[in-house]
Amino acid sequence: MTKLCVILPDQLSHSISSISHISKNDDLILIAEVDQEFTYVKHHKKKIAFLISAMRHFSQELRQKGFNVLHTQIESAKNTHSITSEVEQAVKAHSVSSVIVTHPGEYRILEYIKNWEKSFKVPVEILPDSRFLSTPEEFSEWASDKKQLRMEFFYRNMRQKHNILMNNGKPEGGKWNYDSANRKPPKSGLDIPKSFVKKPNDLTQSIMSIVAKRYDDHFGNLEPFYFAVNRDQAIQALKKFISERLPLFGDYQDAMIENEPWMFHAHIGFYLNCGLLLPIECIHAAEQAYTDKKAPLNAVEGFVRQILGWREYIRGIYWLKMPEYEHLNFFEASRKLPEFYWTGETKMNCLKQCVTETKENAYAHHIQRLMVLGNFALIAGLSPKEVNEWYLIVYADAYQWVELPNVSGMVLYADGGFLASKPYAAGGSYINKMSNYCKNCVYSVTKKEGPDACPFNYLYWDFLIRNRKQLQSNQRIGMMYHTYDRMDESKKAAIQQDSKLFLDQIK
Ligand code: FAD
Ligand code: SF4
Repeated sequence: MTKLCVILPDQLSHSISSISHISKNDDLILIAEVDQEFTYVKHHKKKIAFLISAMRHFSQELRQKGFNVLHTQIESAKNTHSITSEVEQAVKAHSVSSVIVTHPGEYRILEYIKNWEKSFKVPVEILPDSRFLSTPEEFSEWASDKKQLRMEFFYRNMRQKHNILMNNGKPEGGKWNYDSANRKPPKSGLDIPKSFVKKPNDLTQSIMSIVAKRYDDHFGNLEPFYFAVNRDQAIQALKKFISERLPLFGDYQDAMIENEPWMFHAHIGFYLNCGLLLPIECIHAAEQAYTDKKAPLNAVEGFVRQILGWREYIRGIYWLKMPEYEHLNFFEASRKLPEFYWTGETKMNCLKQCVTETKENAYAHHIQRLMVLGNFALIAGLSPKEVNEWYLIVYADAYQWVELPNVSGMVLYADGGFLASKPYAAGGSYINKMSNYCKNCVYSVTKKEGPDACPFNYLYWDFLIRNRKQLQSNQRIGMMYHTYDRMDESKKAAIQQDSKLFLDQIK
């Protein structure tokens, strides 16, 4: 009676529920590196090398622990390159009596798994993913009596449920949220600690050679490669963040500086999302730093909110709203993604910086993704389908369950306000306040019209004009229409003329 435990590429956790349900002596684990997972969108080369290396290191660790592991390597001639076919082959070759798998992160994969029982004629058990701190069922119950969902209220429940930063039933420090303390603009001469860097070992180097050849037409730079590829290294990366960057994480959470891609962020999304780190251990590590007086409350609460609040909330929305969420397009935006999202070749310095860093690192921090790359996509009216595909391709931490609600919900407002209370649309002054990008830009951030005016300035108004019907009743943004209505006619005409000229030439 052999059970086959299928470990998906984002399930590289020793404590994953499926592994705890099998026996070392009788059962088998299957880990398969298949093209299907790396090419359903053409992922960044660095992400592919990272995941393949992490999968092989994970198999080695499981074997050392005494598990029987079947591992299909990407370059194997027998590789079918489909997860379903790999499971089928293993079921047939090893007289498997049942298949066990932890609930996948993505809807796409759940659809495959649902067919396995019928196709392979063996029972298939799907276990909950206990690495998350809330379940889709809990989220759906919480959401059931609400017309609009707000992360803040969900987050407060999660703080109470998991007893994080709580003091006799009250939030630590007396407030649930210290976000207002977390918006410092960057100052010059800021000493930013270096991000975690791990030199690739022989195994990772051999995988990099395969990736360089096999996926040479994919986006992004493979080298230099510096990611952690196993749990020990990921824990080192977490510790480095907690001791060196967490204290100022809150203060500079929204700040952007030219040629400083990492700032005071944690750079752990890629490890959390493939299972090398667990969310609860990251939260506890930050809480401990607060208890030990090594990091202030605004930083620790801000970090905890990202993981216990946003990450769980985003996942809840995904499972609540799939599959229809993928197709939402509230503003009926349809503009093609401009070529500079791939090349970085644009005169807009903010976008150039963010795309170039994304290409180099398979990483950009939250405010770059939201207020530069995302804000432009929103106000230029780019197609949600193309924008979603881009975000899924370019980041090493991208998986649809977390990428899609962030892009369609938070950035593009394509769900009409289910996730966010207003679109995060902004002109150039926000970018200027939170970064030093505008200093080296050919456009002038203070100019509102004409060929050298910052395009964000007129595109912001153009976005509001185009979408007046959908937005003017929105309490948080609707008042901007009063400002617009009071503008003189020549200014209104200039907005539309500058926007048309600009949008026509960014194809
Ligand atoms: P930090 O800023 O240090 O935050 C710590 C952790 O909190 C992150 O690692 C992440 O796990 C969690 N977190 C923070 N914000 C969010 C959020 N909005 N949603 C979910 N988790 C969050 N995150 C992904 O993990 N994968 C994605 O594909 C992804 N796509 C995004 C697309 C857009 C348009 C936007 C605006 C955000 C996206 N995010 C995504 C959320 C966030 O930007 C990244 O999690 C973060 O930048 C990862 O870097 P970090 O580890 O340094 O995060
Ligand atoms: Fe970006 Fe405008 Fe600033 Fe240039 S001036 S960096 S386009 S916000």
